[in-house]
Amino acid sequence: MTGLMKGKRGLVMGVANNHSIAWGISQALHAQGAELAFTYQGDALGKRVAPLAASIGSDIVLPCDVEDIASVDATFAALDERFGGELDFVVHAIGFSDKTQLKGRYVDVTTRENFARTMTISCFSFTEIAQRAAKRMKNGGSLLTLTYGGSTRVMPNYNVMGVAKAALEASVRYLAMDLGPDRIRVNALSAGPMRTLAGAGIADARLMFNHQKAHAPLRRTVTLDDIGGSALYLLSDLSSGVTGEVHFVDSGYNIISMPRPDVLQA
Ligand code: NAD
Repeated sequence: MTGLMKGKRGLVMGVANNHSIAWGISQALHAQGAELAFTYQGDALGKRVAPLAASIGSDIVLPCDVEDIASVDATFAALDERFGGELDFVVHAIGFSDKTQLKGRYVDVTTRENFARTMTISCFSFTEIAQRAAKRMKNGGSLLTLTYGGSTRVMPNYNVMGVAKAALEASVRYLAMDLGPDRIRVNALSAGPMRTLAGAGIADARLMFNHQKAHAPLRRTVTLDDIGGSALYLLSDLSSGVTGEVHFVDSGYNIISMPRPDVLQA
């Protein structure tokens, strides 16, 4: 199947480098004909994002720090100049928390300040982006955010990020309900552990990675291609009847209740 995204224009937020989940998604969208604009956070990352964008034919590379609402508004104003005030989809692949609080017991390490900051960047930014994107989706659209199974189950060290992801998933449902009448769909993709900059910020990330590999039904971790394919489905008309969902792309890890006995006994 080719040309699934032909004629569709979208904003991809959260590419930091070629290992980023957002980059895997961008490649899948580009292969199906989407026209893409990118945001980056800070000049250092901008220098990495610009050549990646160019490699798939995009010169729309805009600064955006979602902690600063003026920066978000400036991004959409700049985007309007290129896309004429219209938009078909958004990929929100943004997460942040102080990594010293992604280690140890949630009850001990979490501070009010970092709790609020984590929620603003990792959760509420999706609502603020949806508010702005929806106004530009005159023919309907699709909004996609990234989450992790630490939202509903306790994962060691994921801590406040798990709380933020739970709120993010709830936001997906409320936004889906509100924007449904405008034919705007809102979904989350729940990825298994990936070796990215954000992923490396979680203590013992390698342990989680290896645990998934050993115990998930598919006996492997997921790749950027796995994520890209599922994101393409959620962002394209293939999923036209799907909204408010949290879609797992985790080799099936979320369905298991206990580790494999043969591995435990080995
Ligand atoms: P990544 O480090 O490549 O991407 C995280 C992005 O968030 C970066 O581009 C960073 O610039 C951006 N960001 C952070 N604070 C920001 C701010 N204030 N303003 C704008 N952008 C900001 O890592 P990734 O793993 O690709 O993360 C993408 C998303 O996927 C995150 O929401 C993450 O929680 C989620 N996720 C990651 C994993 C994993 O194992 N890596 C698993 C499931 C979900």
